[in-house]
Order: sequence, then structure tokens, then C-alpha cells
Amino acid sequence: MKIFITGANRGLGLALASTAVERGHTVIAGSRDGENPTGKLKVLQERFPDKVLSVSLDVTSEQSISIAANQIMEKEGSIDAIINNAGVLYERDAKIEDLDFSLLELTMNVNLYGPMRVMKHFLPLLKQGTNQTVINISSDAGSIANAYGGDYPYAISKTALNMFSKQLNHYLSNQQIRVYAVHPGWIKTDMGGDKARGSPIETASNLLDILEKKKEIDRDLFFINHRGEAMPL
Ligand code: NDP
Repeated sequence: MKIFITGANRGLGLALASTAVERGHTVIAGSRDGENPTGKLKVLQERFPDKVLSVSLDVTSEQSISIAANQIMEKEGSIDAIINNAGVLYERDAKIEDLDFSLLELTMNVNLYGPMRVMKHFLPLLKQGTNQTVINISSDAGSIANAYGGDYPYAISKTALNMFSKQLNHYLSNQQIRVYAVHPGWIKTDMGGDKARGSPIETASNLLDILEKKKEIDRDLFFINHRGEAMPL
């Protein structure tokens, strides 16, 4: 399977990239690190030179996404899965009275418009693939049923991402392309922090099971956790 991952240079994205190559998949790793990444993504690419293709990708830039899609079309011709993973969390505990709207706009730009831009430019590649799946990494913070009074930019961006996922799910259902918004659990990453109980590698492994169809998921479900269980909307 050829799997395209955004934000593949650290956190969950890096765990997804390493788990996928270890399972024999090809990973197209999109990151702001560019075509010659540094750090752990570089180490992974050196270990699996034929299995990791790095592309420069800033999800806030339509031009960067379009260039990446064209490069992948030339080199690979198709992809089988897209994982819209790149995300930001700003204004964690800010009260509505103190909200900085520039950070709200930036959050929407990355967490919502990012996946929308990626789908606009990567759909032609995905349509050339087989057994295709799109996973938009969402969050329990986006659940209206579980709403709490805080994390305004982040929660709202993920609720909207769930809506976009449902729309895509409808749009692509007659082409047998599966679309899910997935809560990855509270995991130990720069965003999740040290107190998080979950491991990104375990979540990555569960997400790979979903891509590989090791787990049957009801066709009507679109907002799920990484174990494939329904999340409250
Ligand atoms: P991290 O903060 O550890 O990593 C975020 C990733 O997103 C980095 O690779 C970062 O790249 C990338 N990114 C941010 N902005 C952009 C951009 N403009 N263009 C391209 N890449 C960008 O977060 P996690 O790994 O924890 O989060 C991954 C996903 O999981 C996110 O969507 C998050 O909302 C979601 N999530 C995480 C939870 C957790 O407990 N950790 C809980 C629920 C959901 P760079 O290094 O360049 O900044």
C-alpha cells in the first residue's frame, strides 16, 4: 500500500510512518522539513530508502500541496491511503474573553483547511489507487456531545473536520473509498504531553489495522476512535 501522511516528521505522523514501513508499505512523508528531512524522519528514510519518499509540505499553502501532488504523480502515479495528521493546538486554556483570533484563524487554517486543501489536490492520485482509505485525524475535543468550556480554536476546528469527513464520506462512497475521522486517543507527543497514557506507536498500529482492513468497521460510521469504535458526535 502507498500511504501519504501529513506532519510525518514527529509525533503521531512519525509513528505512523515508521509502523507503516515496518509492515512493508511505502510511505510518502509530507512535512515542513522538506525533501531532505532531519531528525528521526531522516533516520527512517536512511533505514528504508526504497520505502520512504519525503516531500515538502506545508498544509497552510495550497501551492506547496499542489507541487507535492504533482511530484508524487510523476514518481508514484497513485496512492492508496491519505492520513491527514498535521495539526496544531493553540490557546489551550484561553477564555472566550481573552481569545486571540489570529490563533483561531491559524488553527482553522491547519486543522480544517489543511485536510481540505490536501483532498482537493490529492484526490486524482487517490482515485488511481486500490482499496483506498482517507483518515482525518480528529479528536474527542471535536465531539459536540462531550463539549467542555475550553480549547475553543482546537475543538471547533475538529468538529468542522468531522463535518468535512462526513461530506467526503458521502462524496466518495460510490467509488468505494472509505473516509473516517479518527480520535487517536490521548497520546504522548509534543501536543499530548508527558502525562498522556497512550503511545503513538500503539495508535499507529491500530490505524494501520484499519487501513489494512484487519478490522471490519460499519460503513455508516465515520467518527471513530483508533480501535474502530464509534465516537459520540
Ligand atoms: P505534534 O504536535 O506532536 O505534531 C504535530 C505535527 O503537525 C508535526 O509534524 C508538525 O510539523 C505538523 N504540522 C503543524 N502545522 C503544520 C503545517 N502548517 N504544515 C505541515 N505540518 C504541520 O502533534 P501529535 O502528533 O500529537 O498530533 C497529531 C494529530 O493528532 C493532530 O491532528 C492532533 O490534533 C491529533 N490529536 C492528538 C492527540 C494527542 O493526545 N497527542 C489527541 C487527539 C488528537 P512541524 O514539526 O513542522 O511543526
